[in-house]
Amino acid sequence: MIDLDNVRHNVALLAGLAPRAETMVVVKADGYGHGAVEVARAALEAGATWLGSCSLAEALALRAAGISAPVLAWLDPAGTDYAPGVAAGVDLSVSSQRQLVEVAGAARAVGREARVHLKVDTGLSRNGCPSDEWPALVGKAAATPEVRVHAVWSHLACADEAGHPATDAQAERFDDAYREALAAGLEPIRHLANSAALLTRPDLHFDLVRPGIAAYGLNPVPEAFDLRPAMAFRSSVALTKRIPAGESVSYGLGWTAERDTTLALVPVGYADGVPRSLSHRMDVWLAGRRRPVVGRVCMDQVVVDCGDDAVAEGAEVVLFGAGTAGEPTAREWAEATGTIDYEIVTGMYRPRVARVYR
Ligand SMILES: *Cc1c(COP(=O)(O)O)cnc(C)c1O
Repeated sequence: MIDLDNVRHNVALLAGLAPRAETMVVVKADGYGHGAVEVARAALEAGATWLGSCSLAEALALRAAGISAPVLAWLDPAGTDYAPGVAAGVDLSVSSQRQLVEVAGAARAVGREARVHLKVDTGLSRNGCPSDEWPALVGKAAATPEVRVHAVWSHLACADEAGHPATDAQAERFDDAYREALAAGLEPIRHLANSAALLTRPDLHFDLVRPGIAAYGLNPVPEAFDLRPAMAFRSSVALTKRIPAGESVSYGLGWTAERDTTLALVPVGYADGVPRSLSHRMDVWLAGRRRPVVGRVCMDQVVVDCGDDAVAEGAEVVLFGAGTAGEPTAREWAEATGTIDYEIVTGMYRPRVARVYR
């Protein structure tokens, strides 16, 4: 279940923390697994004025849903046809002269100016134009009539580690790149901050902030903020049974009951986003308390040990949620499986898992 009230709460909180900047809520990867269109609408209602997507196709899906707010698309393979993006008024990120030429060609084909955000690589060494090619890129962009440069932007590598020296080094390079753009005659806005920088580095908010994970209520930094997780993963008990002491459970028979007990079968497994690596070390929230999943996580099902408690077939099972009642959280799954909660929630977009909005 996706709680859009929590998305609205989080976006309003984030926008309030960056009062001098506009807020772009990042809805790439289908809204981090929450549903891009639904999250985009909720975010715009709560004060966001921009949306961020990775691919142009993701941006066009927002337009197809009738969303007319500014959208920035920032990463596609070489040779992508940008014409549908220009035609739909999608802002396009440009990291190289080759991309600039492609976007200008699309603008000519469509007969409409393309609005671009020039991306500079300030140290992440991923997307973005390297410093030594930057002056030529801004010069060429300034001389290309088919494009209008709206922004200069970059992305931080270590914003989630408080006081990491790389952040200041990146901010310095960002400042240099901005001044080179001004020297080329451009008058761009600037944006640099992801969720972590929005939360901890007000000096880096510039004109626009780009929160992703925090809008979904997951906090990427150790400092506490009133962020409310929007995603809960729920199922219900499909079958209960008593087994006698000595019986074992699930493939490999890796867990054996030490006493007579009641088992509850829950019809979700690794095909539904429950990591198989959580076998023998996960709990669910069922009938008012946490209870252990016993035996291996299967493709379609897990088994919960309920002891002597009466648990009804059909009872709700919370796999993870906000954690406020004591239920497991996406963060807990991430820590147990050696990843980050971003990957847990993004991995929940599964055809078999119904998305229900509140
Ligand atoms: C994903 C992404 C963001 C959002 O990052 P969070 O850590 O989720 O806030 C911002 N900017 C860019 C370029 C991104 O790719």
